[in-house]
Amino acid sequence: MNFLQKEDSEIYNSMKKELARQQTTLQMIPSENYASSAVLEACGSILNNKYSEGYPKKRYYQGNEFIDEVEITALERAKKLFGAEHVNVQPLSGSPANQAVFFSFLSPGDKFMGLDLSCGGHLTHGNPYNFSGKLFKAVSYGVNKDTELLDYNEIRILALKEKPKLIISGFTAYPRLVDFKKFQEIAEEVGAIHLADISHIAGLVVAGVHYSPFPFTDIVTTTTHKTLRGPRSAIIMCKEKYAKEIDRAVFPGLQGGPHEHIIAAKAVCFKEALTSDFKVYAQQIVKNAKALAETLMESDIKLVTNGTDNHLILIDLRPQGIGLGKPAAMALEEAGICTNCNTVPYDPSPPFKPSGVRIGTPALTTRGMKETEMKQIGEWIAKVLKNMNDTSVKQKIREEIRQLCAQFPIYKEI
Ligand SMILES: *Cc1c(COP(=O)(O)O)cnc(C)c1O
Repeated sequence: MNFLQKEDSEIYNSMKKELARQQTTLQMIPSENYASSAVLEACGSILNNKYSEGYPKKRYYQGNEFIDEVEITALERAKKLFGAEHVNVQPLSGSPANQAVFFSFLSPGDKFMGLDLSCGGHLTHGNPYNFSGKLFKAVSYGVNKDTELLDYNEIRILALKEKPKLIISGFTAYPRLVDFKKFQEIAEEVGAIHLADISHIAGLVVAGVHYSPFPFTDIVTTTTHKTLRGPRSAIIMCKEKYAKEIDRAVFPGLQGGPHEHIIAAKAVCFKEALTSDFKVYAQQIVKNAKALAETLMESDIKLVTNGTDNHLILIDLRPQGIGLGKPAAMALEEAGICTNCNTVPYDPSPPFKPSGVRIGTPALTTRGMKETEMKQIGEWIAKVLKNMNDTSVKQKIREEIRQLCAQFPIYKEI
């Protein structure tokens, strides 16, 4: 980063401090990861300089010969990776990708179904302040109050009663497997479009450690920066028969010029995800999450659904006291563990004072950590949660985490 260091020391210094933070603390927010240096190079490349409104071979501006090569490579790799019929690699991020799907099939006021946000749905699945809840009529399904699991029978009954135009599966804070086939069957029965939003689990899906929504699902969206470990962005995939609507909704519906440097980085990410190494990586994410969940439960920490099948764990702090999510996440941060507070299903506290903490293993697994480290980390988390106000406990763990992190370096330089 020689040029940046010379030209803008303020930003350079902030970035250096952020790198040190990423190196010396445990990144356990389940939607975060460390992209490879090759992905980061593509993000910071000269492709940033080009305008390429339109699609490959159908651009509005001249000079897109090599940009087309990049975008076509990204498209072909995504198709191969997921087994998708049609792909659009231009969405800028996950929320705009979902927005394009809404705009493809729904008119303002139309009804759709998504998972209740307190049960693990995303903002774009019906939050009242989000475009999804503002422009469209959101009908939420929940999880079963006792098991905290999706109840497909109840979802079907609600869909038959409400007759939504769109049903969304795929979530932000659900620690178990999702049966996309059942969602597709329900959608077909009520004449709705099924959107599987696999943002969180895409890396697990392509590695075969989570059910795939392909080939039967109408539309699939995913971010590329979570378990997929690529640049901060997203793609939309669909059956060929929906290709025109989706492409039109992205451009010119929502966006002008696509970010071709990020599309290049997505292509790099897809190449990496097609390797057998990535499969091993994704398998290890789940092994690590299971080992971590076991340690936490052995330490009497309550987990939503009593465990995990994927990359994330939702700690239910109600036994420690309702509304403790934020103070708990702050105490963990002091100890060097970066997480986020999160609602638990049917949270008795308001959303800005939730009763849970969400943790995940994708980033730590990228660093090379395995079950042994997860056990140790689980014990640290339990200790902090039981001694949230004890500064000496947190400081001691902070030091031990510094030592652990030193054994698992991330980037050699920036
Ligand atoms: C992260 C996420 C998104 C949105 O992604 P952004 O890139 O943050 O806009 C959408 N849906 C789900 C399920 C997600 O987890």
